[in-house]
Amino acid sequence: MTDVTAMTATQIAGLVATGAASAVEVTQAHLDRIAAVDGRVNAFLHVDTEGALAVARDIDARRAAGEELGPLAGVPVAVKDVLTTKGVPTTVGSKILEGWRPPYDSTIVERLRAAGTVMLGKTNMDEFAMGSSTEYSAYGPSRNPWDTDRIPGGSGGGSAAALAAFEAPLAIGSDTGGSIRQPGAVTGTVGAKPTYGGTSRYGLVAFSSSLDTPGPCARTVLDAALLHAAIGGHDPRDSTSIPAPVPDVVAAAKIGATGDLSGVRLGIVTEFGGEGAEPGVMATFREAVDTLTKLGAEIVEISCPHFRYALPAYYLIAPSECSSNLARFDGVRFGLRTGDDGNRSLEEVMSLTREAGFGPEVKRRIMLGTYALSSGYYDAYYGQAQKVRTLITRDFTAAFERVDALISPTTPFVAFPLGARTSDPYQMYLADLFTIPSNLYGGPGISVPCGLSEGLPVGLQVMAPTMADDRMYRVAAALESAVGTLTPPTM
Ligand code: GLN
Repeated sequence: MTDVTAMTATQIAGLVATGAASAVEVTQAHLDRIAAVDGRVNAFLHVDTEGALAVARDIDARRAAGEELGPLAGVPVAVKDVLTTKGVPTTVGSKILEGWRPPYDSTIVERLRAAGTVMLGKTNMDEFAMGSSTEYSAYGPSRNPWDTDRIPGGSGGGSAAALAAFEAPLAIGSDTGGSIRQPGAVTGTVGAKPTYGGTSRYGLVAFSSSLDTPGPCARTVLDAALLHAAIGGHDPRDSTSIPAPVPDVVAAAKIGATGDLSGVRLGIVTEFGGEGAEPGVMATFREAVDTLTKLGAEIVEISCPHFRYALPAYYLIAPSECSSNLARFDGVRFGLRTGDDGNRSLEEVMSLTREAGFGPEVKRRIMLGTYALSSGYYDAYYGQAQKVRTLITRDFTAAFERVDALISPTTPFVAFPLGARTSDPYQMYLADLFTIPSNLYGGPGISVPCGLSEGLPVGLQVMAPTMADDRMYRVAAALESAVGTLTPPTM
């Protein structure tokens, strides 16, 4: 890695602002790094070399003209391929959208540009964001820079791997059940799921609309906060967007970095007390809890009795919404069309297109969801899952009357070997055991590196009340100030 690729987004922004480095130099250094290592990592589905350099040149010209630029001007960013990018391929990790170049930018991508960032390209992901390892990508898995025989998490494994391999200092992910936080945890990077509605879904290819939340990924908590502030806030084009400003996450990260958590009450979720989790992960988590205590936090144990039903409720709600959302991929409007030889009916062409275009996990979800929504079973499955969702929300509300935030390990296990969980969907689903509850509730969650187990990164999750995203940044930054950042030994 060259000096500039080793830097944080904050440092790079400082260099560009003072003129010590040009945006073109910074961008070229990252493009060179991608060329050197992405053959091993496969973090990117598409590298937009020309587009990135053109944006970088524009930033340099505007700076030279004395224009006031955004706080992240000249900082490269990698964008999960779930967000539309005008004229730039957007596949969602699926064959069904191969070759599609969207006619418009998502709000997140628009705001990234307004902040002065330079989009390097689109990152690999499990097809339609369904998965926990990127092994369900139609374009081959990404690999974990800590050990390229292991998974980088999913669904946003490409974004996390790009950060850990120093291919980009910032990345965007989307979190429906853990797809920002879980890849962050297993790659030793930071990933934050904002409050649902705190970041716009406009131009985010929908998986489960009541859960989908785009958010920031970075190598430090402050960088994640800066990115969060740049992309967040109300968007009239998203009907569930919250009409309120983003809490001051940047100030909170700076306060946290002083390492003082006195007066902060943190709750450890009893139900995440180790059942199903690797002993090494639990041991590293407990050490981190001791560190938080030393920083002044008061730790209490809190029971959230309905969290144990979060996984089954999620696997009814998310597939139900996906079965409806994915109906739009019909071979007529976007991407792939199969069997349209002039003799087949529209229905046959749709069916052949969907058969050829969707992978096995996406088909499984569509079938599960269609079944759960069918008239005879709606109340028993979808209706029941919605009731569980309400009970989980009540657990959170009750907990936040006693504590400022909840903490847990982000994932029950460290990065597993490629192929280890692909034959048993349930084993794959367990990766999100600890992250799913806050999606069902809608509150924010962050994963911050808290140490190693078996030489591999472990993440600590901080969950906060809705619209109190700043709280989780404070706690995460304090832990980071004590633990430090993690760097893969081989990169
Ligand atoms: N792994 C979970 C799933 O497969 C979560 C995915 C996500 O957050 N997009 O549904």
